[in-house]
Amino acid sequence: MRSLYWFRNDLRLNDNLSLNLAVKNSDAILFVHINDIPKEINYPWRLLEIGQHRKLFLSQGLSELKKNLSKYGHQLNLYTDNSVRILSNLVKKYQIDTIYCELINAPDEIKQIKLLEDMKINVVSFFHSSLFMQNQLPFSVAELPNIFSDFRKAIESGEVKPNEPVSISKNIFNIKPITDNQSVMLDTYPLDYSKSSFPITQKNFIGGEESGIVYLKKYFQSNKAESYKHTRNELTGINFSTKFSPWLSLGYISARQVFSYLDEYENNIKKNESTYWIFFELLWRDYFRFIMIKYGEKLFYKSGLNLSKQNIRHDDSSFELWTTGNTKNKFINAGMNELRLTGFLSNRMRQIVASYLINELGCDWRAGAAWFESKLIDYDVYSNQGNWAYMAGCGTDPRGGRFFNIEKQQKTYDGKSTYQLFWNS
Ligand code: FAD
Repeated sequence: MRSLYWFRNDLRLNDNLSLNLAVKNSDAILFVHINDIPKEINYPWRLLEIGQHRKLFLSQGLSELKKNLSKYGHQLNLYTDNSVRILSNLVKKYQIDTIYCELINAPDEIKQIKLLEDMKINVVSFFHSSLFMQNQLPFSVAELPNIFSDFRKAIESGEVKPNEPVSISKNIFNIKPITDNQSVMLDTYPLDYSKSSFPITQKNFIGGEESGIVYLKKYFQSNKAESYKHTRNELTGINFSTKFSPWLSLGYISARQVFSYLDEYENNIKKNESTYWIFFELLWRDYFRFIMIKYGEKLFYKSGLNLSKQNIRHDDSSFELWTTGNTKNKFINAGMNELRLTGFLSNRMRQIVASYLINELGCDWRAGAAWFESKLIDYDVYSNQGNWAYMAGCGTDPRGGRFFNIEKQQKTYDGKSTYQLFWNS
């Protein structure tokens, strides 16, 4: 069996279940990553889907993956083009029987698989970016509760545990490499990340599988986890929250690996409300994944899942003031400057700037989601769309949208204006 393994947002060799499927079922494999350029360049809100910050973090991880595959005698072939076109050409050129890949359960990514299948190409894709596998849920996805706490309680009362992470299948040693000798590197240039909460040019933050595992180990070797709940709402710095999201979003590490370290910490070092809260947040991450599987494209409609939200307005000039950090509100500008310059923003600031865009500037929440997609290092289609829809009252939450009183938020979280001055200078 001759296979092609298409790395998507699973840029690691270990605990990669779709990769193991390929490795177990193949005699020869061609390894591929494609920096996708959609066929019709028709980006909504005229924004690039992947901006400089994520591109750099991605290219760092691809270099590491290339190096790690070469230890097994394999080559990682890199392309920048339309994914479907590249894949269908490679299938012909190397007489590939099956393409294996991670299943990304979002509309555009599902369409890519559908297009390949329409060309009679055999594709095996497997969804495994969540903490809990779909078959571990105490209900079918169609019956997924529309309220997060119902989902959480059902998981917790079922006492089901995430699966243990697995290593790469030993069969990798028996597989012949197929090589296309393509290595189109991404055009990246390092910027100044010295003020960043996730400084991707500094040693501990450089993208990749090994770096991700080292980061995870160090996090749980420190005592940060036991005070997480009390620091997580801070606005800036490298230590206030876990910063697992960038590693998770490109799949340098898996949610199951995070859980495994957390579990060990709770069993051997300390278990408290803060350590539980890390698990709680990982459940939110899972919830947004399953919500997207349940509702699919509807989550991308203007009204999302809420038919009463048909009359959402949009104002291009207010949107531009928001993206460039030029609104009337200095606290909001600070957040937008941080995001634009570094690609990272705390969860608290994400909520605050999102609320401002939706409620005070009267803009379409999907424009905000597109801006985040372009800028965030940790962009993740499920978490981004899910959180934006939730903020706008276009998700499943029955309480409607989230309205943040910006003045009150600033007093609570930036009483001395330290953050505001830091990012407006
Ligand atoms: P921690 O607070 O340390 O949380 C631990 C982990 O739990 C995170 O790494 C993440 O995987 C998960 N998590 C925490 N909060 C959330 C949440 N609200 N939703 C889903 N998962 C969560 N997160 C992304 O990973 N990618 C996105 O594109 C993204 N877009 C967002 C857009 C908006 C408008 C908002 C309000 C939130 C968004 N989030 C997104 C969720 C959250 O802000 C980030 O996951 C978090 O700030 C990342 O920092 P951390 O890893 O230090 O998080």
